[in-house]
Amino acid sequence: MLYDIAIVGGGPAGCSAAVTAANRSLSALLLDTGDFGLALRKSALVKNYLGMPDRSGAELMDAFTAHMKAAGTTVVPHKVLSILPREKHFYLATPGEVYEARSILLCPGASHGKPLEGETAMLGKGVTYCATCDGYLYRGKTIGVVTNLPSAWEEVEFLAGVAGEVKLWADFPLPEKRPANVQTMEGKPRKVLGEERVEALETTAGTEKLEGLFLLRETDPLDRLLPGLRLDGPFIRVDDNLATSVEGVFAAGDAVGYPWQINKAAGEGQKALLSAASWLRENPV
Ligand SMILES: Cc1cc2nc3c(=O)[nH]c(=O)nc-3n(C[C@H](O)[C@H](O)[C@H](O)COP(=O)(O)OP(=O)(O)OC[C@H]3O[C@@H](n4cnc5c(N)ncnc54)[C@H](O)[C@@H]3O)c2cc1C
Repeated sequence: MLYDIAIVGGGPAGCSAAVTAANRSLSALLLDTGDFGLALRKSALVKNYLGMPDRSGAELMDAFTAHMKAAGTTVVPHKVLSILPREKHFYLATPGEVYEARSILLCPGASHGKPLEGETAMLGKGVTYCATCDGYLYRGKTIGVVTNLPSAWEEVEFLAGVAGEVKLWADFPLPEKRPANVQTMEGKPRKVLGEERVEALETTAGTEKLEGLFLLRETDPLDRLLPGLRLDGPFIRVDDNLATSVEGVFAAGDAVGYPWQINKAAGEGQKALLSAASWLRENPV
């Protein structure tokens, strides 16, 4: 199916955009890593969200996602690995499937996966962002997994079924029942080491030898997500209509600048969606 718009990210900006898409009778696909607003969920108390003071971040996000789903949005709980523009539409690749949409709204939040030292140089040489895509290359080998995503646990289990040994750096509580070959590691990952291929990961607690490194984070570097996407420092460059440097692609929320606030993210999600709706009208299939 060719959707009118694909919304990348299911935080306040993405959920607000999806509700507006439904109001405008546009078919919308929302893709999120699966944790829906992980950053906000960490907040114990939000005092400044208009009309709903003194809620926890998790309560607010649950309300936002319930509203977004009730609006009839099609939801895909998987990370978008890359977006490829084609003449009249876009392909969005997730670990399992490829989706198609006429326009894109990027709402991936603020943590744009600042690369580890050595990460970019080792991409494709042992460093990978996708367990499903590359796991089979590491059958019987010793690999590292660095993740901040509770929803990536399934991928860790998948990798444990393929690799010989999995050294895991995770910054969330892990299930008690774990595959025997998963070893939880101490320290904060700092630097990927290797010449032709990954050889080790340097952390604040020491250096661990590895044959491959899976980085399963909330967001990967934005310039890898979509070719031609221009950035201003850590932010996606947008104009007054929240249009990006790529025709048919819009952006909203923390990803486009300060202040990092829920009201601003939700408002921009709506504004960007309305800009996309105008663009879709002016650029019929
Ligand atoms: C601890 C904490 C407390 C806070 N307290 C407040 C407060 O009290 N008041 C306030 O106004 N604001 C607060 N904020 C800020 C607020 O959470 C953010 O401004 C807001 O969540 C931004 O919304 P967003 O939709 O732009 O991004 P996010 O909420 O970050 O959502 C982005 C979503 O996109 C997903 N994503 C990223 N990349 C991809 C990809 N490639 N494919 C698929 N999905 C992807 C992520 O997993 C995430 O679910 C707080 C933030 C934190 C961390």
